[in-house]
Amino acid sequence: MATEIQTAAAAHMDTTSTRRDFLRLAGAGLLTWTPVHRVLAGDPAAPCSPPLGFPGSIPVFLQAFKNWSEEIVLDAVWTAVPKTPEEVVSIVNWAAAAGYRIRARGSGHSWLPILVDPGTTCDMKVILLDTRAHLTSMSIDTTVSPPTVTAQCGILMQTLLEELEKAGLGMMATPAPGVLTLGGVLAIAGHGTAVPAVGEQVLPGHTFGSLANLMVSMTVVAWNPATSRYELRRISRADSEASSLCPHLGRSFVVEATLRVGANVRLRCQSFTDIPNSELFAPAFSSGRTFASFLDASGRAEAIVFPFTDESWLKVWTVAPEKPRESKEVGDPYNYPFSDNLDPTIASILGTVISGSGFLTPALGQAQFTAIKAGLFLGNSSDLWGWSKDLMLYIQPTTLRVTSSGFVVLCRRADVQRVVSEYYAQLITLRDAYRGRWDFPINSAIEVRVNGVEHPEDCGVFGARSPRLSALRPVPGRPEWDTGVWLNVLTIPGTSKSNDYFRDLERWMFQNYTGDYAQMRVEWTKGWAYTAAGPWTDETLIHETIPECLSTGQAADDGFRAAIEQLDALDPFRIFSTAFLDRFLPPVQKIGLDGPPRKGGGGIQSIQPAGKHGGTGGLFTAPRAKVKLQPATPGPQVVETSGDLKSWTPMSTNAPGPVEVTVDTSAERRFYRLVPLK
Ligand SMILES: Cc1cc2nc3c(=O)[nH]c(=O)nc-3n(C[C@H](O)[C@H](O)[C@H](O)COP(=O)(O)OP(=O)(O)OC[C@H]3O[C@@H](n4cnc5c(N)ncnc54)[C@H](O)[C@@H]3O)c2cc1C
Repeated sequence: MATEIQTAAAAHMDTTSTRRDFLRLAGAGLLTWTPVHRVLAGDPAAPCSPPLGFPGSIPVFLQAFKNWSEEIVLDAVWTAVPKTPEEVVSIVNWAAAAGYRIRARGSGHSWLPILVDPGTTCDMKVILLDTRAHLTSMSIDTTVSPPTVTAQCGILMQTLLEELEKAGLGMMATPAPGVLTLGGVLAIAGHGTAVPAVGEQVLPGHTFGSLANLMVSMTVVAWNPATSRYELRRISRADSEASSLCPHLGRSFVVEATLRVGANVRLRCQSFTDIPNSELFAPAFSSGRTFASFLDASGRAEAIVFPFTDESWLKVWTVAPEKPRESKEVGDPYNYPFSDNLDPTIASILGTVISGSGFLTPALGQAQFTAIKAGLFLGNSSDLWGWSKDLMLYIQPTTLRVTSSGFVVLCRRADVQRVVSEYYAQLITLRDAYRGRWDFPINSAIEVRVNGVEHPEDCGVFGARSPRLSALRPVPGRPEWDTGVWLNVLTIPGTSKSNDYFRDLERWMFQNYTGDYAQMRVEWTKGWAYTAAGPWTDETLIHETIPECLSTGQAADDGFRAAIEQLDALDPFRIFSTAFLDRFLPPVQKIGLDGPPRKGGGGIQSIQPAGKHGGTGGLFTAPRAKVKLQPATPGPQVVETSGDLKSWTPMSTNAPGPVEVTVDTSAERRFYRLVPLK
């Protein structure tokens, strides 16, 4: 039965084309990948023993998994397809008893490994619950004003927007792909591009912030200490837990969400390809066709710059109730097929670039931009008009498979031009410095978009909570920082020196966008905390800088650590977590420190047991420290740290009580935990 399940999204993801085959083979070296396609538990062909006692009526099977960028490729991971929220609850309670972890699976479009860890195998206690097949119902309530939509979280954004459109409703700005699930988008506070044009007010039911800011309530699977069970729990936006749930970065399981929605609008989307970058990204307060000038006029814009080109592809959306005479009316989304399907000439240059001829990157950039201009001309798609969803959904899963760094700069609206102008200048500086060394790390686009910060009142719930983990959360005392500028750089995964480039760019950004001028945050779903080893490897950024960005100015009990504690209270056994999430959002109560970490700490810290999933974890603040760790289970253990570990003793223990471990690393601050040796 399970083998027959094929959702629309899965069909999209499995779609093959010459271009994608080419990229998969050329870019990722996956010619030998032999994935498992749905082997049911109990099948003699299954390479691992099945999850014992899995709730009887729900099929569980082994399935291959690839995230969209194909940077996480798993041969076989346990997967189930729950039909109802109650089935999710029963699986989660089984998992809590059996020591398994449960991952809500959407369309797999995240770059950040928060769905499933790279390297996960079927002998690990991890089960993906694919939400896209059955958890897709929705209903619209127009008896309230503004209306609301209540949807299960496996619904695709395109379906949600189509149904809203039929009811005359819509959203201000949405992520560009329609194939994303609502659950996936809410998990990371997905966004489009929109700030108020000069004189524009937010309309009832809409927000200039992220989609998560529309949350009115959510039904999540949460631990109930009174019954000692995981149960469905509805959390209103005014409840304290809401501050940590929109977004939650994958540390929860949301079965359903109610969002505020507003009247649908018609949009005009104009594409410009003739504005010199020197004009579009001119210094602040320059005259002419600057990025800020388009925001003033229309509020909605996206600039895409290809490598080594002098102009950008600028898209500008304007609210236009009547069709402008010059515009072409469209009735469907995805109106730029030329950007979703790679031109064969470009594919051939790309293949050469990937296989070592990086010096062809300037030609590749020119070819990409030429193809866009030709596509806009031939498709007569430079000036489109239609319902909002048809203009806001414009990326298909077949678009060029790239990896992306992602940051957002919070600033005054009046400083947006300064932000983009300094950014563009730095990109040119870096590009030329790398080219001088004959390195060409960036072979795809640079993208610039904007949003307003999250105003909780937009959701129309009295006492609505501010989202602690949203990159668009306003900074207290800084009401003038009302805008977030999203800055992304894209390149083919594995391009030589790209991690060095991203590291250099990120360090510059954290130094530049600071003080009274601006504040940096990261775009969760994309790459950040770079070292030459890749994204999410800079421990200082991961454990200090980035959490601080979300805590600065907030009350002591209302920052990053508070969010972790609250998510842990909803899921004390960390059923909804991954190794990456344990590292990035380590259990606060298990650190054994009150208040912020003490520099030069060391000494012996007493740590409490961590529960079912691994031993104790914590933080030490000296290069060499003695810590007491409590094994969660007897048997050989190993210390895992977030960075280099020079030594530790003892190497293994069967002792039931705490073990004293000496950890010695090359850095000042490291997170550690004791886990059973596999
Ligand atoms: C080509 C491309 C274009 C993109 N464009 C945009 C854009 O324009 N704007 C933007 O904001 N983002 C964009 N993204 C990023 C995307 O919005 C996020 O990665 C999003 O999380 C993906 O949704 P998904 O359904 O694929 O979720 P998945 O990748 O399957 O999961 C992502 C996370 O969400 C969690 N999750 C999923 N469902 C649930 C649930 N029901 N309950 C709890 N947790 C859940 C997963 O466990 C995981 O931690 C883009 C990504 C790609 C690849």
